[in-house]
Amino acid sequence: MTSTVVSVPMPTVPRRRRTPEDVASAAPVYGPRRVLLAAPRGYCAGVDRAVIAVEKALEAYGPPIYVRKQIVHNLHVVHTLEEQGAIFVDETDEVPEGARLIFSAHGVSPAVVQSAKDRNLQTIDATCPLVTKVHREAVRFARDDFDILLIGHEGHEEVEGTYGEAPEHMQIVNGPEDVDKVTVRDPEKVIWLSQTTLSVDEAMHTVNLLRERFPTLQDPPSDDICYATSNRQAAIKKIAPEADLVLVVGSANSSNSVRLVEVALEYGAKASYRVDFANEVDESWFEGVATVGVTSGASVPENLVQDVLNLLAEYGYGDVEEVVTAEEDIIFSLPKEIRATLKAMGDSSRGLGGRRRADES
Ligand code: SF4
Repeated sequence: MTSTVVSVPMPTVPRRRRTPEDVASAAPVYGPRRVLLAAPRGYCAGVDRAVIAVEKALEAYGPPIYVRKQIVHNLHVVHTLEEQGAIFVDETDEVPEGARLIFSAHGVSPAVVQSAKDRNLQTIDATCPLVTKVHREAVRFARDDFDILLIGHEGHEEVEGTYGEAPEHMQIVNGPEDVDKVTVRDPEKVIWLSQTTLSVDEAMHTVNLLRERFPTLQDPPSDDICYATSNRQAAIKKIAPEADLVLVVGSANSSNSVRLVEVALEYGAKASYRVDFANEVDESWFEGVATVGVTSGASVPENLVQDVLNLLAEYGYGDVEEVVTAEEDIIFSLPKEIRATLKAMGDSSRGLGGRRRADES
């Protein structure tokens, strides 16, 4: 059985860098060099839960444990779990009949659940509960015969999963540019839902445009853009106006990480770049830079942020001030299939998934 590789190899040897002296002589820096470190940043409760679910499954059942798609959108996390025996696949038909399969934090459509059943796979659902909430809304409003406008990025795994709950009632609206293309059966019976990791501002702009077309457009029962996405954007909005440069740690396929770069630029950062690892930082970005903002997406372990801070310190940015805009204490129970196994094994140590502290990542 050949499995499609859905992860990407880790970068190898860091390239040769220009020295801090070279960078300093390239452009003058006005004012003291400093870092504004966003808080909250990094792991959210849904990511932590999903990663712990894979770790615990490996411990409890032994490898291989199959995982459909990347468990969370982070290269480092995926690679680390691969080393422990997880096998990442694109689709259920790549998994041997009867094997154990974990669904990723982004959720799956009912068709995927059915295809896993058809192969007698033993599934563990690590879908974030906040994604499941959107699925339930889709099912409920489809049952009530609404036209559902799902604001989100077509092709993203989460959007595919949510759309799959009620394809006959749903249209995907990628952003403001799609608003004119929307057609509905009854303009009085339309609701919008959204992907959990969008830019809050852009999603609201899209909603406002939709509402101009459909004045009685209904809002979701509660926010679909999740607390972690909103909080990380709020923190970078506070830092960006003061920052000459904002570095976002996160992977290219991580929607919330990519949004953080956009939000930083929109709120006044002079430049902003996303990197998976510290060795991707280009030191020419530091030329003439006094204040560097640093944050990370919701699927990023803290050690990757610390690597970036260590690099910054080498270039004179050792003065780090944490800018705290919210405290997060949300935790989610582990998937029920894992809880049952842990209970049977007498393991109650990590019955819950929650935000992992920096020293545990
Ligand atoms: S970013 Fe939000 S929706 Fe996604 S896993 Fe984290 S808490 Fe859940």
